[in-house]
Amino acid sequence: MDMGNANAVEGAAKGAVLGAAGPGGYAAHLSPDRLAIYLLHGVVEGSSYRVRNYNRKHLEADYFRDFLKGLLAKGRPLSMDDAVRHHQEGRPYPPHSFAITFDDGFWNNLSVAAPILKDLGIPAMFYVTSGFVEDNAMSWIDRIEECIEAASPDAVKLPWRKEPDRLRNREEGILFLDEVRRKVKGDPAVDVDALIADIARQCGMPAPISSASPLDRKMTWPEVRELAGGDGFTVGGHSHRHGVLAFLGQEELEREIDTSLDLMREKAGLATRHYSYPEGLAHCFDERVIRALKERGIVCSPTAMPGTNAPEDDLFLLRRILVI
Ligand SMILES: [Zn+2]
Repeated sequence: MDMGNANAVEGAAKGAVLGAAGPGGYAAHLSPDRLAIYLLHGVVEGSSYRVRNYNRKHLEADYFRDFLKGLLAKGRPLSMDDAVRHHQEGRPYPPHSFAITFDDGFWNNLSVAAPILKDLGIPAMFYVTSGFVEDNAMSWIDRIEECIEAASPDAVKLPWRKEPDRLRNREEGILFLDEVRRKVKGDPAVDVDALIADIARQCGMPAPISSASPLDRKMTWPEVRELAGGDGFTVGGHSHRHGVLAFLGQEELEREIDTSLDLMREKAGLATRHYSYPEGLAHCFDERVIRALKERGIVCSPTAMPGTNAPEDDLFLLRRILVI
């Protein structure tokens, strides 16, 4: 391979992580003997906001379709149940296998993503956060993003910083939100509800709780049931309140998992054996979390750590590729 090609391949692989190569770049992760599991959150018809969705948590529908077509041109879709079977039986994957997964339970999974997946004949897994479904609740970071979007404050003082952060334009807004994400995801001592209240107060608005926006609306239980009803779509758990599970005490951890599985069973009639960890980074789950999930019949819980997987890898340590 000459240097030009090597750079092109490296660029494509990098782009697949950073999104710079566009939707076609993600096929660079497909491999003859490994499984690429893609991690998405939402798909929307359009996205024009000042700071909201800056990290492309919700892809635009055309981009999503192109991303899937790029994978189909080279690879073969597997359901997560198929993936589990290959692991349990120790059988190699079909060449260039991939799986599509969504976290959190956004309504746009059903209204926008599912019809596109169905059209292309691609199965998918949807990990839903039961508390979001119960209350159409927004995640903590979406609540903070919405404050910044709606109020457009010039500056906000974060409790762990000496000076207020300036927020005069999109770039400063993004730096601010990245800093909030970094701190909350890494520091169990942060009181997230107090932080949201503080930021909302500085923005001169009530803290947002739920919203009908395509970026925020969650599925109802009947909609979760509808999504799981066919077309190779499966639903799994993703906690009740979306806190970092490894940060919770044993009692709270078990209550969090039990509540998520009980609600799914009682309100959507679904007994699932699939789960994914909120946030999903290496420090967000541990042996205790994995044991609690196994005790409740869960057989597979992928992480959000980047990478691809071999059939002999542990089903509770599977890696996923974030699509942005
Ligand atoms: Zn999540």
